[in-house]
Amino acid sequence: MLLRFYFGLLVSLFSLHLAAQPLFDSHLHYSAEDTQHFTPQAILNLLDKNSIPYAAVTGTPSEHVSKLYHLAPNRVVPLLSTYRHHADKSTWTKDKTLIPYLEKELKRGYWRGIGELHIFAHDRHSKVFHQVIALASKWQLPLLLHCDPAVIDTLYEIAPKLQVIWAHAGTYPYPDLVSNYLQRYPNLLIDVSMRDERIAPGGMINDIWYELFVTYPNRFMIGVDTYSTARWHRFNSAVGHIRNWLAQLPKEISRQIAFVNAAELYKNHQKLNTNKVSSKTTQSRSPS
Ligand SMILES: [Zn+2]
Repeated sequence: MLLRFYFGLLVSLFSLHLAAQPLFDSHLHYSAEDTQHFTPQAILNLLDKNSIPYAAVTGTPSEHVSKLYHLAPNRVVPLLSTYRHHADKSTWTKDKTLIPYLEKELKRGYWRGIGELHIFAHDRHSKVFHQVIALASKWQLPLLLHCDPAVIDTLYEIAPKLQVIWAHAGTYPYPDLVSNYLQRYPNLLIDVSMRDERIAPGGMINDIWYELFVTYPNRFMIGVDTYSTARWHRFNSAVGHIRNWLAQLPKEISRQIAFVNAAELYKNHQKLNTNKVSSKTTQSRSPS
């Protein structure tokens, strides 16, 4: 036990001294309260300090993410939040005004994903949820879901081709369950934000999680998940926890989870920006 602890500590110290590998953070929030403490530029500075060249960011309301995106369109992948107010988190599945709002926002052309949506199993047949799935399919945008396993099953009955990011490795982050879902649904990706303690209890990577990452190296992504302003204040140490267990994986697998998988998922975003810069147009991405 003590040996495992010292090994974990050693790995932490060692990883601090290595040149930091670039991270693609796939789960950030930049919401109204955060703007009272961190300007968009301060957020970019924090990302720089932590060697995070790219990040997928959502926020409530979405206008703050929009500002951040327009400050750094080549770095920020903007995700459209379904919440205009924090209270929407528990009521959105019944909100009839949501779909017209999302349709209007999506026409702006720069949103690269929809979410984070919080949804429990008992709401999985909600009409609004099914309309969100239809919108994501129409615009070919990934959905970031914080949900029970049954929601994933229902979604893939309706839209087998949709790319879904299952936040926090699901409500029940059991490696067996995660493995089962990854096998069943080839378009499912997992973000392991907020699961550092399970992945690496006491700093040392758990064997079962290690096995899972090695078995599915192209299906996992990392993220700090700045769900509160306090989390932004602790950003550096949160990144440190992620880097600690990443450093215990084989180098290539670590790189895939740290960066490549998210870059692959959002590669059209980068292409779009390159086109935009060269042609100086602000064309919308049309749904296909
Ligand atoms: Zn989140």
